[in-house]
Amino acid sequence: MTEPSSQALGDVFQKAYSWKRDEEAKAAGYYPYFIPIADSTANEVVVEGGHRLVMAGSNNYLGYTHDPRVIEAAAEAARRYGTGCTGSRFLNGTLDIHEKLERDLAEFCRKEACLVFSTGFQTNLGTISSLVGRDDMVIADKLDHASIVDGCRLSFGETRRYRHNDLDDLESILQRSNPSKGKMVIVDGVFSMEGDVPPLVEIVAICKKYKARFVVDEAHSVGILGETGIGASELKGAVDDCDLLVGTFSKSFASIGGYVVGEQKVINYMRHHARSLIFSASMPPYAVATVQKCLDLIKAEPERRHRVMEIAGMMRRELQRMGFDTAESTTPIVPVVLGEPEPTFFFWKRLFEEGVFTNPVVAPAVPVSQSRIRTSYMATHTEKNLETILGAFKKVGKEFGAIS
Ligand code: PMP
Repeated sequence: MTEPSSQALGDVFQKAYSWKRDEEAKAAGYYPYFIPIADSTANEVVVEGGHRLVMAGSNNYLGYTHDPRVIEAAAEAARRYGTGCTGSRFLNGTLDIHEKLERDLAEFCRKEACLVFSTGFQTNLGTISSLVGRDDMVIADKLDHASIVDGCRLSFGETRRYRHNDLDDLESILQRSNPSKGKMVIVDGVFSMEGDVPPLVEIVAICKKYKARFVVDEAHSVGILGETGIGASELKGAVDDCDLLVGTFSKSFASIGGYVVGEQKVINYMRHHARSLIFSASMPPYAVATVQKCLDLIKAEPERRHRVMEIAGMMRRELQRMGFDTAESTTPIVPVVLGEPEPTFFFWKRLFEEGVFTNPVVAPAVPVSQSRIRTSYMATHTEKNLETILGAFKKVGKEFGAIS
């Protein structure tokens, strides 16, 4: 279909025909999205034209994506079960390895039962929308991930959002709510653009006071935080007080998929009511086997999570010492807050040219004046990789007058 020259009123395509932000960004010399990676060793990637960069923009915190033991487990599962399940968990898409993974994850997270979904995004959609009904309400932190926001939208209940980490705001919403309504409070265990951990113990106390169920999304914290790697809930000593934990397999588990753990009865209900589970094909065998192998390695190799935290701590200190603002980060996600969007995009581009792959983050993900470069670290980053990243920040930071 060709683009009509005149305004086509009432055409749902019109917004697409008149949208030119990407072309404008390309013409201005920066466009940071959909960069095809042609080769990767996890720590380093090669993009079009053979340009090699140190990867400081992935969620591969433990660096397991390229571990030969993990790759072999994935290949073995593909040989045994085929490349896909071609159906929902509900019907033909449940394998014995899905069920073993669910048993092992429930045990790992110290909960009764587990359900795995095909993505982390679907996990939040299914968890929230299956449990928050017409007479209920769900309350989320304003910086919660988009999948939580969309899960709230999808539910038939009332949605309220409180200012980031603002306990008074959370409490005042609960105080003013109808006591007979069912309530769910849901927060990220690590906020993906901030790298901070919310005050879970204080949130638990408020939830208990107002009889709200409490859910923590451990997407960026599972495998990293807590003594055994359960996540932020374990770090804060709150695992038993979280009614549900959700998480994703697309970060420390080096794969794709997601999980929710909690009471057997509740998980069983979700198995039969979560539409993003029932009406979508199940996790493919190689993905299940990858996650199973990573789970076994996470249990056996705690030094990996210690190492990534050590690296992130060192990078935070060095970046701060240069004069950069790393916000409230205490995790392997280390943002460098720069200010307005346009200079942030150009800063990102210069880092790219200097051989460092990062992610620019602008509104609506963060307030307009807090645009930032999001860096994230891996347990496998070498000293040389880290020096390259710091060297690039120092050089580009000076060029832009962001540091002296
Ligand atoms: N929750 C959080 C907090 C996330 O950051 C993300 C993805 N970045 C998701 C859920 C969705 O996970 P997935 O990419 O596995 O769909």
